[in-house]
Amino acid sequence: MPRPIRATIDAAAMAHNLAIARRQAGGAKVWAVVKANAYGHGLERAAKALAEADGYATLDFIEALRLRNAGVTKPILMLEGIFKPADVALLARHSLTPVIHSLAQVEMLEKRVLERPIDAYLKVNSGMNRLGFTVDSVRIAWNALQAHPAISSVTMMTHFADADGASGVAGQLEWFNSMTAALAGPRSLANSAALLRHPETCADWVRPGLMLYGCSPFADLSAEELGLRPAMTLASEIIAVQNLESGERVGYGFSFEATEPMRIGVIACGYADGYPRHAASGTPVLVNGQRTCTVGRVSMDMICADITHLPEAAIGTPVTLWGAGLSADEVAASAGTLSYELLCALAARVPLSETA
Ligand SMILES: *Cc1c(COP(=O)(O)O)cnc(C)c1O
Repeated sequence: MPRPIRATIDAAAMAHNLAIARRQAGGAKVWAVVKANAYGHGLERAAKALAEADGYATLDFIEALRLRNAGVTKPILMLEGIFKPADVALLARHSLTPVIHSLAQVEMLEKRVLERPIDAYLKVNSGMNRLGFTVDSVRIAWNALQAHPAISSVTMMTHFADADGASGVAGQLEWFNSMTAALAGPRSLANSAALLRHPETCADWVRPGLMLYGCSPFADLSAEELGLRPAMTLASEIIAVQNLESGERVGYGFSFEATEPMRIGVIACGYADGYPRHAASGTPVLVNGQRTCTVGRVSMDMICADITHLPEAAIGTPVTLWGAGLSADEVAASAGTLSYELLCALAARVPLSETA
């Protein structure tokens, strides 16, 4: 028998979250962002659950081809465009829409033959300073794409650095609008945070990722408050129980010491499963649906939880690490990270299945 740990994926939750994104986006079309194996949820499964999207966005050609092999005929947006000249042929063959963010990519497109026309996105650097054309080169790139015989449409795009934070989007939005004022074409700007908090950025196409999986992009607003439902539940069981006297300690580094008699449940889940190693003692966990907290360090294959006040808890008692009843956002906060990282880091050794 395998270890008791498993992740279950709730397809209905994803469809529900997509409907929220669509409602929030007004009339904008929706790219469902499914990069990183659909944030750990399984690419093909997520694409099916998100069938109401207008297209899918990823950045890995292997993932894009997996979608085509799964029968996806909708548009696929390649968020980092092409990496090597040979990728140009893949764009035409599989009808992929590249984000063009550098003159090096423009040059690749010009030098290689596109056997069939494709759509393209042109990425503007509106202040994040990661990818995209600046005010000096955006016109050159736009002209080149417009003049390209096999590029049928050019959508102007940018990405926000702090749509969830104090800076917001106003500065980048203004700069994007001024840089692209003279450049015709549809627009795409909003990630989950922008589409939820700054609806004025929704434009023609939105690009939600995290919210589709039922997590919140905001530190000050929970997924539940946003009406989102968790798509992934990571669950396991207690595999051992320890009774501690006051003064006894738990786990590597003896980092936790009992100050009174305690019962500790040992859970089959560790950082090799994708549970964050930096989750501090006190991170919330559900044992038999009841909220308690971890004690001591996360080890490779196990964590420990305080079950002193849960007398019914024993070997075999079910545990929820995150998901239904306990948001991954909360666990992430206890580990000094974001739910994005937790979902994506789910280890390959954890069996993934769909809820019935
Ligand atoms: C990942 C990504 C998104 C989705 O972001 P979320 O915060 O998960 O909604 C949107 N746009 C681009 C360019 C991305 O790389």
